[in-house]
Amino acid sequence: MTTLDVAETHPACTVLGPGSRYVVWVQGCGIGCAECVSPQWIPFDHTRARDVAELAADIAEHATDGLTISGGEPFAQAGAVAALVAAVRERRDLSVMSYTGYTIEHLRAHGTPGQHRLLAELDLLVDGPFLAHRQAALRWRGSANQRLHFLTGRHAALRDAPDLSAGLQIEVAADESVRWLGVPPVAGFRQWIENRLELEPLEQKQERNP
Ligand code: SF4
Repeated sequence: MTTLDVAETHPACTVLGPGSRYVVWVQGCGIGCAECVSPQWIPFDHTRARDVAELAADIAEHATDGLTISGGEPFAQAGAVAALVAAVRERRDLSVMSYTGYTIEHLRAHGTPGQHRLLAELDLLVDGPFLAHRQAALRWRGSANQRLHFLTGRHAALRDAPDLSAGLQIEVAADESVRWLGVPPVAGFRQWIENRLELEPLEQKQERNP
C-alpha cells in the first residue's frame, strides 16, 4: 500500500490555482525558509499517513476543476504524490498543480526518479522558496522569486492573464470557527488575521509559501 503523509485537505478551494480545486497539503518539509508561514506542517509525521488509493478516489469524486498539491513540501514525498496523481487520472483527467520550495532547474538536474515522475504529471508548478523580504501579491505565489510554470498546454489561455493575487477564501464553519485559505498577500498577514479573528494557528487551513 502506498501512503502519503497529509496535513489537510479541502475539496473546493478557489484561490490556489485555476477554478475550484481539491487541495492536498502534505505534512513535512526539509527546506527551512525563514518566516515559513506553515510551520505546523514542517515536521515529518508518519502518523498522518493516508492511503493513496483511498485519497485518489475521494479527489476524483469531489474535485471540480483540478487538484493542487501544497504543504509542507510535495517533492519531499514525490513518489507518493506522483502515485496519487496517476491514480486520480485513472478516474478523471483533472488539471494538476503543485508547489515546491525547490527550483525547477534543481529538480530537473538533481531530482530523484520520484521527483521526475511528479514533474511529468504536472500542468502547473509554482517553484522556489518563500523569501519574506520579497513578499508580493502575485497570482498564487507569495514572493517575487517564485515562478508559475506552465508545463503543459492545458492552461495556456492563462499565460497572459494579469499577475495579481487570487485573494483569500474565508470560511465560517457550523461551530462558527473561522478559517482561511490562500497565499498571504502582505508581510505579517497571518499574525494580523489570527489576532483579529482570534484564531488558533494550528486550526487554520493556510496556504504554504514555499
Ligand atoms: S515555506 Fe514551504 S518550503 Fe519553505 S519551509 Fe515552509 S513549508 Fe517548507
